Amino acid sequence: MTETEGAKKMIQLTTATAIEKAITKARTVKPRVHVNCFGSYTVTNKTTGATYTVTCEKRDGRRFASCTCKAGELGRACYHVAAAAGIHVQLATEQASH
Ligand SMILES: [Zn+2]
Repeated sequence: MTETEGAKKMIQLTTATAIEKAITKARTVKPRVHVNCFGSYTVTNKTTGATYTVTCEKRDGRRFASCTCKAGELGRACYHVAAAAGIHVQLATEQASH
């Protein structure tokens, strides 16, 4: 894993409450999540057609995510991250069960 300190802020996926608002928005917007590979997702807003790249990674046992949208660049949990994290956790669970 490369260090992304400085340029890119990482959003820590702590508890569900931390990204609760983002999850609620993701449920409303229902963006499309495309899995590029495990840990990398392209999130598309079906209404505007805007696409953002969400990266999920694990560091010291904690989950972090980053997004290429404005909120994500500021280190805020956006709905893109919430949507991608949902898929990511699902994939991680599947991997662990193999
Ligand atoms: Zn975002």
